[in-house]
Amino acid sequence: MVTDVIIIGGGAAGLCSAVYLKQKNPKLSVRVLESSPRVCKKLALTGNGRCNISNKNINLTRYHGNDIEFCRYALEKYDLSFTESFFEKIGVPFVFEGDKAFPMGLQAASVVDCLRFAADNLGVIIHLETKATNIQISNGKYKVICDNLSFLAENLIVATGLLSGGERLGCDGGMLNILKKAGFKAHKCTPAIVQIKTETDIVKQLKGIKVNANATICVSGRPLRTEFGEVLFCDYGLSGPPILQISREVSRAEGNAEIWLDVMPDYDFGQVYDMIRARRNNLSYCNLDEFFTGMLNKRLGQVVLKTVGLKLNESVTVLDDKKCKEIAAILKKFQFKAIGTTGFLNSQVTAGGLDTKTFNSKTMESREAKGFYAVGEILDIDGDCGGFNLQWAWSSAFCASDNILKEKQ
Ligand SMILES: Cc1cc2nc3c(=O)[nH]c(=O)nc-3n(C[C@H](O)[C@H](O)[C@H](O)COP(=O)(O)OP(=O)(O)OC[C@H]3O[C@@H](n4cnc5c(N)ncnc54)[C@H](O)[C@@H]3O)c2cc1C
Repeated sequence: MVTDVIIIGGGAAGLCSAVYLKQKNPKLSVRVLESSPRVCKKLALTGNGRCNISNKNINLTRYHGNDIEFCRYALEKYDLSFTESFFEKIGVPFVFEGDKAFPMGLQAASVVDCLRFAADNLGVIIHLETKATNIQISNGKYKVICDNLSFLAENLIVATGLLSGGERLGCDGGMLNILKKAGFKAHKCTPAIVQIKTETDIVKQLKGIKVNANATICVSGRPLRTEFGEVLFCDYGLSGPPILQISREVSRAEGNAEIWLDVMPDYDFGQVYDMIRARRNNLSYCNLDEFFTGMLNKRLGQVVLKTVGLKLNESVTVLDDKKCKEIAAILKKFQFKAIGTTGFLNSQVTAGGLDTKTFNSKTMESREAKGFYAVGEILDIDGDCGGFNLQWAWSSAFCASDNILKEKQ
């Protein structure tokens, strides 16, 4: 029996495609093959369990890949309001916190449930614990091999994601290898939206401290991106929202990346220098271990002083103008050599994937194989933290599905 559409991967993009296809054409036969015992395991964990489902400010500057223009059509045509009305119909109204969209119930698991209920109601056939291990062409149809089963399809949508979250979430990247063997071109995969490992001598002393800072990723001496927010010091390196946001380039920089923290972003260097000199004059009765008490996190202040070679049991009066300048310089640019990330397992998205040049940006269909579509994270598009990756999953899924619907008319 030939199925009209087989979707490999019952994650965000796969389930969205399945539901949308059946909503628009109930007569289509649609099967989802999912390797895990449950669909959308990752979606259920998104947004710290609240699912940051989209963003009011979807635009290309928030996306990355070798050909960013590729995602323009799908993101503009299947935008936030299109997505909102799709989810509204299946029982998930959106609410907003700033620009970020969430399901009104603020539960990621409820988004999964609503997708699942809609899929069941519409007659989507879901095969759980069914891992696609190969794809062949047989009499002009796609034959999907799953261990001891096989399925024939007229149209195939590959929605397997890549490596982020790791095998526990069904993300082993295996499908990309299968496709590469079949001749598909792909770009190198690296973890993004992930914690950054740094040299540990300083961060270990600051473990557990959170500071509001501007965090800049700098590759081969060149600052690439700055984000403001709460930075968390960990025994392995740095975490927190601005760190995750700038982490993408670390794996790609091959050892040439540094993170610069400006822990006094509201003041320029001159103002910080003046503040430190005034403090030196006012607090001459203190030892250095209390010099920053009341101004900075105490432990952070002490580590800054030690970094410029001072001993904490000395009197504040030892600070000359040169030392004050050195201290101000560190507060404005505390440098940490990045040595890597905490890897795919801890990352929220994978940079790299299927070369988008070999797909049609208006349909997500392969330029070489008719009826073969790829959607979501497996394509070489990744977004920033903030709902951008899920919006890409939804937009690319709608885009591929609409083309299949058009071809089937
Ligand atoms: C912890 C975490 C939090 C996140 N939070 C957010 C957030 O709040 N907002 C946001 O926009 N993005 C978030 N993301 C990113 C977002 O979840 C992903 O970008 C999105 O889920 C990708 O959708 P996808 O359908 O392409 O892949 P996935 O959702 O990864 O789905 C792929 C599915 O394919 C299945 N599969 C894989 N290989 C096979 C195979 N060979 N055969 C059959 N099935 C297979 C997998 O089991 C999986 O179910 C988060 C990611 C993580 C890890």
